[in-house]
Amino acid sequence: MPNLRIDDQAVNVPAGTTVLAVAQSLGIAVPTLCHLPGLSASASCMVCAVRDEGSGRFLPACSTRAEEGMRFDASSEAVRDFRRAALEMLLGEHAGDCEAPCRLACPYGLDAPAVLHALAAGQEASAPCPDDCPAPCEKACRRGRHDEAVAIRDLLALYRQESDQPLRERTVSECRLGRLHEGEMTEFLRLADSAPRAAISRDSAQAQAARCLHCDCRESTACRLRALAREYGADATRRRGPERATVEIVPIGEQYVFEPAKCVRCGICVRLGETRKARYGLTFLKRGYAVRIGPPIGVPFLEALGDLAEEIVAACPTAALAKRG
Ligand code: SF4
Ligand code: SF4
Ligand code: SF4
Repeated sequence: MPNLRIDDQAVNVPAGTTVLAVAQSLGIAVPTLCHLPGLSASASCMVCAVRDEGSGRFLPACSTRAEEGMRFDASSEAVRDFRRAALEMLLGEHAGDCEAPCRLACPYGLDAPAVLHALAAGQEASAPCPDDCPAPCEKACRRGRHDEAVAIRDLLALYRQESDQPLRERTVSECRLGRLHEGEMTEFLRLADSAPRAAISRDSAQAQAARCLHCDCRESTACRLRALAREYGADATRRRGPERATVEIVPIGEQYVFEPAKCVRCGICVRLGETRKARYGLTFLKRGYAVRIGPPIGVPFLEALGDLAEEIVAACPTAALAKRG
């Protein structure tokens, strides 16, 4: 039963307990990204780092076991700086838009993509665009770089009734793609309706809304990486290399999507399949910087996910694996 101290709180714990579990038992918040309770630790993201006050080294709390006499700092500015740097390393290799260009351009912060996705799914939806808005969303619309912008303002107004819904503040984005690389537009067009822009009516709304490229991230509100980047004030551009990852949007059956440029290679999807004894599961392909997640060679992606598809997609801490939406 080792005795140790975290943030000057003394504790006596069973041998083999991880520092993460000890901190959590003391009510000390330690962030995690590649850790999922019930799975083996991978200690690949270093977001849970704590400082060993004996050696001065930063160690992953998820895989460090408590030993007699250890003392850890889990909350100082130095620890927060280290975690921020770890997040910036991940963000530096990460390519995606947390928010769509149209939403960022809206002076009222309206979530235009959410309305478009609802209409594309055959639901009724609207947003309180002021009548005199010059629709900067349409000027920013990515689809306009290909053929014509989505008719955002007319679609947003389609089912409008008198609304007392307040207009929101402009939103901010942690990750932004910027100018697309050659070939990336094809990736965005892969899941969009190819219809040209046309006059909007209730009959044409679904097809017109389905022209939207879904530039907004499919996990913008659930993404752990984004949430931690906000919490720690991580700058997505500070540690970006000269080349950003290329966007790929890989449909997995009708329900899911894989975006490898959003994968932080945490291995949760792989370990979940191993732990639950999936027939195939996902695996790490290639090596070094080229390493990526995928199904074993010769196995279709959906078949590799098998019965665990829903669980694995939900466990991914980013939108690398996401519901198609
Ligand atoms: S995966 Fe997370 S960080 Fe990346 S674009 Fe989506 S919301 Fe932003
Ligand atoms: S394609 Fe859709 S999500 Fe992208 S900018 Fe245009 S309306 Fe917004
Ligand atoms: S696909 Fe998701 S769960 Fe799998 S390694 Fe990438 S980020 Fe982690």
